Order: sequence, then C-alpha cells, then structure tokens
Amino acid sequence: MPQLDKSSRLYKLRHSCSHALAQAVLQMFPEAKLGFGPPIEHGFYYDFDLPRTLIPEDLAILEEKMRAIFKEKQTFVRRDEPVQKAIEFLKKAGQPYKIDLVEGWMKDGAKTVSFYENVDASGKAKFVDLCEGNHVENLGEIKVFKLLHTAGAYWRGSEKNPMLQRIYGTCFENKKELDEYLHQIEEAKKRDHRKLGKELKLFAFSDYVGPGLPLWLPNGTVLVEELEKLAKETERKAGYLQVRTPHIAKEIMYKTSGHLPYYAGSMFPPMVMEEEDGRKETYYLRAMNCPHHHQIYASEPRSYRDLPLRLAEYGTVYRYEKSGELFGLMRVRMLSMNDAHIYCTEEQFESEFRAVNDMYLNYFKLFDFTKYVMRFSTHDPKELGKKYMDNAELWIKTEDMVRKVLVASKINFVEIPNEAAFYGPKIDVQVWSSIGREFTIATNQVDFAVPPRFGLVYNDKDGKEKTPLVIHRAPLGTHERFIGFLIEHYGGAFPLWLAPVQIRILPVSDLYLEYAHTIEEILQGEGYRVEVDDSAEGLGKKIRNAELMKIPYMVVVGEKEQAAQTINVRDYATKKQEVLKVKEFLGKLK
Ligand SMILES: [Zn+2]
Ligand SMILES: [Zn+2]
Repeated sequence: MPQLDKSSRLYKLRHSCSHALAQAVLQMFPEAKLGFGPPIEHGFYYDFDLPRTLIPEDLAILEEKMRAIFKEKQTFVRRDEPVQKAIEFLKKAGQPYKIDLVEGWMKDGAKTVSFYENVDASGKAKFVDLCEGNHVENLGEIKVFKLLHTAGAYWRGSEKNPMLQRIYGTCFENKKELDEYLHQIEEAKKRDHRKLGKELKLFAFSDYVGPGLPLWLPNGTVLVEELEKLAKETERKAGYLQVRTPHIAKEIMYKTSGHLPYYAGSMFPPMVMEEEDGRKETYYLRAMNCPHHHQIYASEPRSYRDLPLRLAEYGTVYRYEKSGELFGLMRVRMLSMNDAHIYCTEEQFESEFRAVNDMYLNYFKLFDFTKYVMRFSTHDPKELGKKYMDNAELWIKTEDMVRKVLVASKINFVEIPNEAAFYGPKIDVQVWSSIGREFTIATNQVDFAVPPRFGLVYNDKDGKEKTPLVIHRAPLGTHERFIGFLIEHYGGAFPLWLAPVQIRILPVSDLYLEYAHTIEEILQGEGYRVEVDDSAEGLGKKIRNAELMKIPYMVVVGEKEQAAQTINVRDYATKKQEVLKVKEFLGKLK
C-alpha cells in the first residue's frame, strides 16, 4: 500500500485528526484505553479498548464532539520525557497499551519518548498523547473530515492480545476531494469483485478444494479463455513461441535457479518420492515458470541466429500465501501467469524491451486504462555483491537502456533507487480502475543472474560462447488478479468481445420459443455466445434478469417480430431499443 509522505499536508491533517478523535472518545468514555492511531493511505484510524461495543450512531456523536474540539483551535505542544517517567505518567493515566509501546521502545534502546499536548487558546491542556510529531499548527485547520466505520483489531495484530475497536476516518483538504473519495468507496462496494463474481457466476471457492484456490465457473472461464486468446494472438504477431511445461519439477532445479532455499516459505512443501530402485527424489510444486522455460532454451545448442528467442506460456504457479492475506481473486494460492521469457543479446536488448513496452501500451488502450505509472526500480552501487548481483557494468548498461526506452516511448514512469530485484532492474506496472483505485497488475524484469547459473549460452558471430540476457514479462499479470481488476474496472459490464454471454434472446412467451431458437442458431453460427431464456417467467422478469447479468444485448421476440421476421434489440450500455432484421443486427455487432 502506498504510504503518505510524512511531510505532506494530508499526513499532518489526518494525523492531527486522529488526536482529536481520541480526545472525543475520552470525553464520551473517560475510561477508554488508547491503542495505535496512525494516518493511512486514505485516512486514519485509532484503536480503543472501550466499556461497550460502538454502534453506528456513536460515530455521529463523536464527529460532533470533534467539531467542537476543532473550534477551540487547540495547538500541539511537545514534551520529551525519560522513559521511566513516561511509564509512571501513563500508569497514572491508566493507559496500559501505551505503556506496552514505551516498554517495547525501551527494549530497542530508547532513552526518551515524546508526548504532544493539545492546548486551547486559554493555555489549558485538553489532551495528551504519546507521539512522534508531524501535526498541523492548530486543530482549527481541519475543515473536512468524516468518521467512516468501525472494525475489530487485535492489539499489535496478534490473536493472543485483546481485541480492540478500531474507528476509521478520513480527512481531506477540501470538500470536493472528500466527496470524490466517498463516491469512490460507494462505487467500489458496488463493484467489489467478490460480490460481482458471485452475482455474475464467474468464480467460486470450495472448502473441499481449499482457500485461495478459485474455481472458474463457465462464465468466468469465458473471460479466462478470451484473455488467453488475446494474449496468444498478440504474442504470435510479436514473434513469440508458445510452450507448455509441467507444474512440478525436481528440487535441484529450484536450487540451481536460486529460489530454494530463499523462497521456500512461499512454496508448498516438498514431495519426497521413492523410486522403484529405492532412490529418493524430491519434487516441488512450481512457484515460477522461469526455470522451466530455461530448460527449453537449454534443450538444444543455440546460436546468435536463434536470438531473440521468445518463449511464452499461460503458466500456472502455486504460492503459499498466509490464509490471513488471501483476498478474493486478488491474493490467491494459484496464479495463472501471462508469462514469457525473452532470451536476447545485449545488442538486441533495447529493441526487445521497447517492443515489450509497446505491447503494454496497446493493452492499456484496448482495456481503456487511462491512468498508469511504471515504477522503475534500480540498484544501489553500495549494495553490489550483497543485495544485488555483483556486475556493476551490466547494471549500469541495462538500467541506461531501460531508462532510454521509457523516455523515448514517452511512458509515464518514476524511478525508485535501491528497489531492484537481486538479478536485475525491474518495472512494476500500476494502473487505475475507472473509479480511480490503484492496482499493481504486472511486472517486467531484466535478468542477468540466473542464465549463467543454468549455463545458458549461445554461439556468437565470433565463435565465442556468450550468456544471453533474459527479460521476464507478464503484461496481463495473472488471470486471477487481472480479472479481479477488470470486474471492478468495468463494474461487471464487460465489453462485447469479453462478455461471458453476449446476447440473450427473450421470447415473450413459449409461443415464440421456436422463433427464438432460430435466431439463436443464426447468431451462434456467426460465432457469438448466445442463449435463450426459456424460463416460465414473464417478459418483465426476463428483462430484469438479463440486466442483472449485465448482458450486452437483449433480443426480444414476440408476435410482431415473428410476423415481420425481425428482432427487438436492447443495448445494455446505451439502453437504446430498436427493431432490426437479424442481418442488420449482425452488421452492427461487427
Ligand atoms: Zn501526533
Ligand atoms: Zn520469469
């Protein structure tokens, strides 16, 4: 989650607002015990141990108290105390969680801690909190805020500790920004991919299969297959070759690639198999496709004439995410990646990288992503040989080339020093959904560390053996995350080419069922995904059902249509209705 810059105005506003919230809570419940209360990406929260459970009406009362506090224009006065004195003070104040905090800092070597006191215009102290600073000058500067909702939260995030009540709120510089944010929350609720996933029958989870392992239902499978078709077609035109590789492999491969033991915590545990001759062999479920593709590269001698070699696969990998971190399709244990590895020479790198970027930009256009940023993570020379592979020359060379391509392609990017992968510079692609929420959907990496580990080489023009560079790229990310994102982005109303059911035919009654099926056959023959609603429902209900499923076109047929050999077409997006010949309708769809 992107963090607020500590020196920013929003940080100061939200941080100060959380002090006012704590003050208001103490007015309402003098025996309240205070926990954490930090600013966060879209607002702030504060955790409290309270004598009773909060109800929604409490938030309005607290807001009223906060408004009164803001009117007093209280300022912040800092006071530093030796830790022992601070603990005594907090004991008197009856704040055990704050004492727990100070004791933790003491263990880490802290000698003093700071408090901030809120003082009103007459110089009277109204509230004091343990805090490191960064506030507004006075609380009167807070004009636009809102308390949003409450939630349970364990102290220090551990189930062994007491459960506190967390109050979420937010604060903005002006009303317009707050209104936009509140609208975004409402829209995001309506567009929640878990909710729509159920309603549109896209995917499901089963306790028998396991958490984080989505089952694609027939409608969701259409999305998966359309995306695969798009990727394969795009990649074929760009000179990629499709391959297929197993979902498991021997331990030695992941040791050679360097994933084991470092990545072991994210992999499913090993499978030890005893062969007939008594030999034992250890296998792993794969957490990445790269080493498998490297074996395809290594399956025959390569010359410079074979490069660039672009191997692509929608490869499924498995990663053991903690159950607490699983979230719908966004955090899962099975990931189907739009993966490819490009093996190239140093001379080819720039044009290959440019082509990869162009592919990203074309996808952005196709899916109507109007806002994106590429986060370009580079190395830090001081960390060579430690955090980063020790090859200063290659780092500088590849980073320069990447930068050059990003600038030349007029790509919106930010450079982030000292965040690269061990084996080369990387790019994370962030896109914003149509309601303005940010998602990381894809990653691009340069790799000059792993190819030598597998002894991948090619014979160059001069007859010498050289090591290729590898570009890892996955513009559509994984099916799981990408479809999760698209559900929100489109609000479940997918464009025609992607829609699970493109056209639903609604006969006014069973009398016109035969005519409906005739139309269905014609449309199906033209390659469209069509179905007939042959339920016993009346027309009104049939129309509502089709709207709920957000089907792009409804085709109503009754007595008039049958007699005139026409259809009555309703467009979901524009809500327009028109009577057409089937041929005319087909012409519009093209
Ligand atoms: Zn503070
Ligand atoms: Zn890879």
